[in-house]
Amino acid sequence: TTSQPVLKVSSLKVAYGGIQAVKGIDLEVRDGELVTLIGANGAGKTSTLKAITGVLKPAGGEVLYFGKAVTGTDSFKLVEQGLAMVPEGRGVFTRMTIVENLQMGAFVRNDAQGIKDDIEKWFTVFPRLKERATQLAGTMSGGEQQMLAMARALMSRPKLLLLDEPSMGLSPIMVEKVFEVIRTVKAQGVPMLLVEQNAKLALEAADRGYVMDSGLVTMNGAARDMLTDPKVRAAYLGEV
Ligand code: ATP
Repeated sequence: TTSQPVLKVSSLKVAYGGIQAVKGIDLEVRDGELVTLIGANGAGKTSTLKAITGVLKPAGGEVLYFGKAVTGTDSFKLVEQGLAMVPEGRGVFTRMTIVENLQMGAFVRNDAQGIKDDIEKWFTVFPRLKERATQLAGTMSGGEQQMLAMARALMSRPKLLLLDEPSMGLSPIMVEKVFEVIRTVKAQGVPMLLVEQNAKLALEAADRGYVMDSGLVTMNGAARDMLTDPKVRAAYLGEV
């Protein structure tokens, strides 16, 4: 499309003291796109997400959100503007019920009826959460907590959703389920930037992909081309 990208990252750098974790990367998410960022442990993917969402102040570069510079803006302000993240390790409120967690996700909104309607809407996508609506989140399995973390982020009605390793630590069946949900969310038109260790599933679900290695983007393109690229297959898909 000719419209403004939802997210445009230019020359982004992240440093921890003297360690350069992200060394100047460019990436883009356009309207309706699911973009995945793959790469080995320690490549700098999480640091990239944290710099985009204002959790970390970047050491350099620029983050444009719908064309507006938001570089270094506080996470809270970005959530208000529709930029939501599901962090690695999920961080659901374990001592609150499922419904309370979802209400917390809507903290930036004040349309009570809309919030109720959205809870019902996401309950249809996540039936397990509906079944357990009044239970404490801490009693659910890791996969169910991942679903809840995603549903909670969606309650803010994000214009862009960042997901950090949603499949991490889950059983194969729950991994499939998480990706099914990611596809459903994509079908609802929510643009997403997905960081994943599971490169195969991520590329199968995504429109486009970026490969990160040692703080740099080393490759990018259409996800379906990357799935068949011999270098990607050998290095990231465990195939020869
Ligand atoms: P992972 O899959 O392990 O999360 P990643 O691609 O997300 O990997 P990052 O977590 O962004 O990578 O880490 C990039 C580099 O920055 C690594 O070398 C890591 O050791 C380093 N790093 C990350 N967080 C910190 C920190 N708080 N202090 C110092 N170094 C850090």
